[in-house]
Amino acid sequence: MAKCTDPVVGKILAGWRYDISGIAPEMRGDYEAHLAECAFCRSRQRLHRGIDIGLMALASASMIVFLLAYGVIRHFHPSHAFWLEIGALGGFLLSMLLWLIVALVTPAPLVVKDAALTGARIGLEKLPEEIRDRIPEDLRLKISGQS
Ligand SMILES: [Zn+2]
Repeated sequence: MAKCTDPVVGKILAGWRYDISGIAPEMRGDYEAHLAECAFCRSRQRLHRGIDIGLMALASASMIVFLLAYGVIRHFHPSHAFWLEIGALGGFLLSMLLWLIVALVTPAPLVVKDAALTGARIGLEKLPEEIRDRIPEDLRLKISGQS
C-alpha cells in the first residue's frame, strides 16, 4: 500500500482518528478532498470505523451475556446467588457504559446510519412505482437525502 500523499493533512486526520463528521461542513472540504485522493488515509478511515463498530458489537454481545448470566443465576439460585447477581448486573452496566462511550465519542452510529440509508435508498429505487407511491413523501425524501 502506498504512503499518504500529504503527510501534513494525513497527520491531522490521524489525530482525529479520521473522523471529520464533527467538523463544520465549510471546513471539511480540504479533508474530504484529501480522503478522496489518498488511498492510504481512506483505508485507515475504514479501519478505524471498523474498530468502532467492532467495539460496539462486542459491548452489545457482552451486555447480552451478562444479562443471560443474571437470568441463569435467578433461575437456578446457586449458593452465593446474591453476589453472583451483583457481579452479573455490574458486568451488564459496565458493558452498557462501554457501548455508550463508543457511541458518543466515535462516529460509528453515523456510519451505521449512513449504511442503513444507502441500503434503504437502493431498496427504494428497486420498488415498483405503485408501491413506492404509497410510502409517505416525507419519508421518501428523507431516504433519498433531499430533505
Ligand atoms: Zn493521506
